[in-house]
Parts: sequence; structure tokens; C-alpha cells
Amino acid sequence: MEKYLPNIYQKSIYTLDYTKLLSKGIKCILFDLDNTIAPSHINEVTEKTKELIISLKQKGFKVWIFSNSPKKRVENFKNLLGIDGIYFACKPLQKKLKKFVKNSEFQLNEIALVGDQLLTDVAVGNKVGITTVLVNPVSTKDHLVTKFLRFFENQKMKKLEKKKLFNKGEYYD
Ligand SMILES: [Mg+2]
Repeated sequence: MEKYLPNIYQKSIYTLDYTKLLSKGIKCILFDLDNTIAPSHINEVTEKTKELIISLKQKGFKVWIFSNSPKKRVENFKNLLGIDGIYFACKPLQKKLKKFVKNSEFQLNEIALVGDQLLTDVAVGNKVGITTVLVNPVSTKDHLVTKFLRFFENQKMKKLEKKKLFNKGEYYD
């Protein structure tokens, strides 16, 4: 298993086939926040995002935010979207994700983590053994640390491309 290869790769949280996720047995979706749900410098959600979350709940998913961002930012989005969330998730460290799985009602194969970064979101999800979904960042504005990580992310992507495992813009699920 490639450490940085996502199980699913989609353009955005809106193009992901959630019905297919359901059919694969996924019951719980953890969303990264910054540049997955909203640009990292924005504190609002769009109607489109609200509608997506509502539709996911209607489909029967348990939806969480799983973010490295601080409490204040995550709390704001929890309130805006009416979902639960974990802040300072310390991705790619496994501790908080493992704790989440242990305290949850779900098995590893019932949880998916959706995020925009290979080195944090995909890495931690793969390590813990849940389904990983990579989406494109919704904004090109990154936090300083993320900017730094993008450099290494590009190198990982190139390695995966060389092995013919991954191609930027060639989506799969
Ligand atoms: Mg992110």
C-alpha cells in the first residue's frame, strides 16, 4: 500500500459520489476544513456547502470536521454547518484519528477522510486504515505550513505519477 496514494481522487467535495461511498459501506465522513470545505482564509460557508451537508445527513452519514485548525475556527464551522468536529487534529499524526475511531461506533472500513492534502489528510487516513479521499484545494491561498508541505506534496505526486499510480486531474473512485 502506497502511503500517499488516496483510495479515491475527486475534483471537489461536490463531485464525490456519496451514493457509491454508501454502497462501499462508508457510514461516517470526516472532512478536512481548510481548503476542503472552505478556503483557509474564509470564515463563512456557502449555501452549496450547507445543502451538501444536509443531503449527506439525509443519506444517513455521520459527518464530522477533522481539522488541524484551532478550536475557534472549527467551532465556527461546526455551528455554521450543524455538525460535530475535532480541532487540532495534528494530522498526519495518528493519535487523534485513532482516538476518534476508538470512541466512535464505526469500524475502520466504515470511515472516510476527505481532504486536500496528501501529506496530512491522505497520509494519516492511510496509516490508520480508513478510506482516503483526495480533493483539489478550493483556494490557492495556503497557510505558511501548508505552502511548505505543498512542495513535498508535489514531489510525492511526481513519484506516484512515475509509478503510473496517480495523475493530477485524472479522477477516480
Ligand atoms: Mg486542508
